[in-house]
Amino acid sequence: MRPFDYIDGSLAAGPVRLADIAAAVGTPAYVYSADAVEAAYREFETALAPARICYAMKANGNLAVLRLLAGLGAGADVVSEGEFRRALAAGIAPERIVFSGVGKTEAEMEAALASGILQINAESAPEVRSLSRIAARIGRTASVALRINPDVDAGTLDQISTGRKTDKFGVAWTEAPALFREAAGLPGLSMEGIAVHIGSQLGDLDPYRRAFRRVAELVRTLRAEGARIRRLDLGGGFGIRYRDETPLPLAGYAALVREEVAGLGCELVVEPGRRLVGPAGVLLARVVAVKETPARRFVIVDAGMNDLVRPMIYGAWHDILPLDAPPAGAHYRPADVVGPVCETTDKFAEQRPLPPLAAGDLVAFCEAGAYGAVMASTYNGRPLVPEVLVRGGRFDVVRARPTFEESLALERVPDWLAASGGDG
Ligand SMILES: *Cc1c(COP(=O)(O)O)cnc(C)c1O
Repeated sequence: MRPFDYIDGSLAAGPVRLADIAAAVGTPAYVYSADAVEAAYREFETALAPARICYAMKANGNLAVLRLLAGLGAGADVVSEGEFRRALAAGIAPERIVFSGVGKTEAEMEAALASGILQINAESAPEVRSLSRIAARIGRTASVALRINPDVDAGTLDQISTGRKTDKFGVAWTEAPALFREAAGLPGLSMEGIAVHIGSQLGDLDPYRRAFRRVAELVRTLRAEGARIRRLDLGGGFGIRYRDETPLPLAGYAALVREEVAGLGCELVVEPGRRLVGPAGVLLARVVAVKETPARRFVIVDAGMNDLVRPMIYGAWHDILPLDAPPAGAHYRPADVVGPVCETTDKFAEQRPLPPLAAGDLVAFCEAGAYGAVMASTYNGRPLVPEVLVRGGRFDVVRARPTFEESLALERVPDWLAASGGDG
């Protein structure tokens, strides 16, 4: 079943009409289907058991979404102390969390080590040395996987490739043995594994195959040198359909994992992000005005690039569906769908064939559950938009729209300015 579909001509999440949600919480608003998140999680579980599924929460860090996944048995992949604390707050035990990221601060490493985190994925020699120093100082042993850069082109967008030798991520796979040798002599470290993550939105198994081969080769080399490699973290990157892409075949991925790395006898970790939550979310917006110029038809909506930035930073495509199903035989004409933000780049779609739309109509930006709300900003003084979770026939606001007062609450006017008054 598709997470969002028309019921009696009205786009709905399961049995819940999205128009009812828009009426209750206003627009713009993110809506997530808990049933769809759960189904996506089960698909991973079925395909990849007994691998550990550590949800890459940077895709969608909402506490309720995390709690839902935690309840299904997911661990988390975090990339900052903020995400780490959020995962803990959602009830994900530290022993189920891995910490990734190319620029962890010492404070972040210490917080993670002090909690007893499952694994830290180190991305450089200096980081390995820092982990040793901090762990020794606080009397802990750091479980470390070395994130290698396998020098594989994931064949995805340039901006979301992470495994080429010119990308900032990981340690060159050719340099891993030397770093393992160095780490063996450092206190406070247990070098347990290898991690790899070559990019996001992969549709093709081939780059995974090349990366996993490198990993397997490296594991054999390291073991021959006496290293005890017991865990492999295979990263995320599982592609979904935004426009006409074929989603990465999970069964094929599982077969690939069996062929290339399962024989090494390591515990396996996967870090899906987008695939678990992307298709499970939409961004609702209302048409503010339709402006016909001599050159273009502009559909101006009340969501902006600050609410959903993927089209602007990646040129990403999101399907745009009217909440009221267009009548049969509706005439589709190209339109530029733009937001209210004072930037020319505030454009969700260019020359997109769309049915007739008028001020007041509601639309949904599809596949917006991943890298949507988490990337939002308040640019142009626009409050973050609310998030709503649908489960069965009910929906709940899982992040409220901040009031304008709340938006100002952290800001202070220093005394010397306050004294000068606002009265001119
Ligand atoms: C972003 C990220 C992921 C998740 O990527 P998706 O494409 O959302 O699956 C997994 N692991 C690491 C280290 C990441 O940075």
